[in-house]
Order: sequence, then structure tokens, then C-alpha cells
Amino acid sequence: MTDTAANPAPGALLIVQELVNTLDVEAGTDAIETPAGLRDWLRDRSLAPADLRPTDDEIARMAEFREALRGLLRANNGDPVDPEALRSLNRAGRGGLRVRFDEDGTAALVPQPEEPIAAVVGSIVAIVFTSIADGTFARLKACPARDCGWAFYDLSKNRSARWCSMAVCGSREKVRAHRARQVKTTGV
Ligand SMILES: [Zn+2]
Repeated sequence: MTDTAANPAPGALLIVQELVNTLDVEAGTDAIETPAGLRDWLRDRSLAPADLRPTDDEIARMAEFREALRGLLRANNGDPVDPEALRSLNRAGRGGLRVRFDEDGTAALVPQPEEPIAAVVGSIVAIVFTSIADGTFARLKACPARDCGWAFYDLSKNRSARWCSMAVCGSREKVRAHRARQVKTTGV
């Protein structure tokens, strides 16, 4: 596991990376598992009002949404797309997004004004959509190590990075694969 800051995704896509990395499997911490944690995380990114009081149901929805995003990032790393993750994301996108055209000739997907958490989810779905279109999303990957799943932005030329950190997860996985091979050949 490496720090998000070491290989940050560009622009608004960083929010997706940071959301996925609110769960640190290795450290056993989840930054958005409490009402205050989720509120602060959203407030720090100007995604929700400072007086937001998330309910348990909303916390659960954000966690589900986060894991669905992680599923997409695993798919960016060569895993098959998890159908449950797709269902969850399609549900999330249904909250209502509209296209807003601006005077400077740009257009943006914006969530319909509604309850704050649904709007947050809608905004993040819009970021994913836009980054798929501009090609940056494919570089945002989740580490495939079973006890990791950390989101990292792949800056390699041919988009071939697999592990969040070759020094840690990559070598750990190599040891595992080596052991598994030994077990197979020796039958121990
Ligand atoms: Zn890792």
C-alpha cells in the first residue's frame, strides 16, 4: 500500500481515488464509517454542507458505492467486471443527472438538486463518466492483492502497472505464488 499522494489521479478523478482509499484494509481503518467521518470527508472536498448529518443508511450507501467503484478499478486492472458492482453503479446513476451547458462553451453533468448524499453520489458518477470519456479513468486501478485493494493512478507509459507498490504488494504476492507452486509440486 502506498500513499494516494504518491500517485494522485488528475483533476476531479482524485475524488474517486480518495473515496476508494477511505478504506485502508491494511491498517483496518475506514474514514467514512461514522456520521462525523463521512461529513468531514465530504466537507473537506466541498461536496456537502458542513452541517450534514448522515444517517446509518446513507453511510451504508456510500460504503456500497465505494466498493462498486473499487470493482471498476479492479476491472481496470484486468479483473472481470463484477456484475454486482455494475448494478450498484447503475442504481447510483439513476439518481438523476442532467447536462448543463455553460456560456464558455463547456458542458457538465450535474446531479439534480435533491438530498445531499444522492447528489454526492451523482456528482461522483459524473466524474467517472467524464474520465471514461477523456481516457484517464482506465489508469485508475485497484491493487489486486487480497489484503489491499488500494486505488492508484498508473503513470506507466504502456499502462502496465499492476500493484499499488511493487516493493510491498507485488513482492508479497510473488512469495505467495511461489509457495502455492511449491505446495502443488511437493503436495505439502
Ligand atoms: Zn497493494
